[in-house]
Amino acid sequence: MAPEDTGISPRRRLPSVDEALKAPEASAALAKHGRTALVDALRASIAEFRARGEGASAADAANAASALLDKADRLRLRAVYNLTGTVLHTNLGRALLAEAAIDAAANAMRSAVALEYDLTTGKRGERDDIVRELLCNLTGAEDATVVNNNAAAVLLCLNAIGAGKETIVSRGELIEIGGAFRMPDIMARAGTTLVEIGTTNRTHAKDYAGAIGERTALLMKVHTSNYRIQGFVKEVSPRDVAEIAHARGLPMLNDLGSGTLIDLDGYGLAHEPTVAEAVAEGADLVTFSGDKLLGGPQTGFIVGKKALIEKINRNPMKRALRVDKIRLAALEATLRLYLNPEKLAERLPTMRLIARPLAEIEAVAGRIAGPIGNVLGPRFAVTPITCESQVGSGAMPLSVLKSAGMAIKGRPLDALAAALRELPVPVIGRLEDGALVLDCRCLEDEPAFLSNFAKLALP
Ligand SMILES: *Cc1c(COP(=O)(O)O)cnc(C)c1O
Repeated sequence: MAPEDTGISPRRRLPSVDEALKAPEASAALAKHGRTALVDALRASIAEFRARGEGASAADAANAASALLDKADRLRLRAVYNLTGTVLHTNLGRALLAEAAIDAAANAMRSAVALEYDLTTGKRGERDDIVRELLCNLTGAEDATVVNNNAAAVLLCLNAIGAGKETIVSRGELIEIGGAFRMPDIMARAGTTLVEIGTTNRTHAKDYAGAIGERTALLMKVHTSNYRIQGFVKEVSPRDVAEIAHARGLPMLNDLGSGTLIDLDGYGLAHEPTVAEAVAEGADLVTFSGDKLLGGPQTGFIVGKKALIEKINRNPMKRALRVDKIRLAALEATLRLYLNPEKLAERLPTMRLIARPLAEIEAVAGRIAGPIGNVLGPRFAVTPITCESQVGSGAMPLSVLKSAGMAIKGRPLDALAAALRELPVPVIGRLEDGALVLDCRCLEDEPAFLSNFAKLALP
């Protein structure tokens, strides 16, 4: 509280809401946010000055109210700089879309589109037709369908094929992935009975064959995308599981998780099974994600045998899990990029960022370390470092990508990380060994980054 009678500090004067409303400083906020919101914000701002025992002019109150309104007006879902080093960061929205996909999605948002309309016959069409042929060409499968995400794809397959019957899976493959996707729970919700076989580290062909009975609906393989079991291990290959299933007239489902449409060996990565390989190995159904390695919008795919896909499409859950026109537009444009694999690293951000040469990342880090140090001032030390990025989203958990960036040390580090999150475009790094690490792999627009960084309000 301001002292009132000491003579040191005269009684603080505050404007009325009406006075502040008439201040020239209020006119922009009035035009942008309207009178009702501005009056509320002025009341709140003036009350805050009063609570702090501070005086304020009409202009001060108008400026404070405008700042309050602008802050409240910021979108909750806004762009951030992903300097975590995880390219496909699930919490940061996974894949960045290709320009062609962004254009296609924007177009679908603005216009009526032939979503379920056959332009040749003028009759009703099917939304899956938009990408069916592309998916079949890229994977070698007979048929394909698209749903909300891969979790939905797995749920739908298990319900359509396995409901009321049994599904056989190895104990080594009962995965949990982020966001409470646990294979046993999904099975329960899909209405199929889980039959676990083998042990955590070893499952044999005879385990599969021995578990098949009258109530068996399918055999399932799950790609252990986010972990590896090493040491005394044995698993049955997808090809062998498919053979065992087919010998008993049963289908085999392979959940690939990330899945990739191209061989990633050429990008300096460990071999990840491609969807075409999974199909060629005999799986009757293969499920995979759209926004992991594939680099598209959030979607889930089911590709495989025509009769099974038809059965899946007749399941009422399919309607509940289908994708909208915006994602379908982005997806079609993304898949088309795969028809020209030579240009993929250039056009598809996910591939571009994963395959980004180390020298290029080092050059980015080298150029921005100085300006960042200047903004941070003497309390913080900025050191260029080499570090390790990862693909993320459970894809290739053991593959590390050599990368570069900077380590920021100084105090208080938590407050610095918080200030970075308060920037107009928040900057997200990772805390590691007492330093804030900014991995430059996913930083492409340096001038925009630096002018944003210059707005940092240090604690
Ligand atoms: C990621 C993943 C899923 C779930 O995919 P979403 O597209 O995130 O729903 C399912 N199974 C495996 C093996 C995965 O890696």
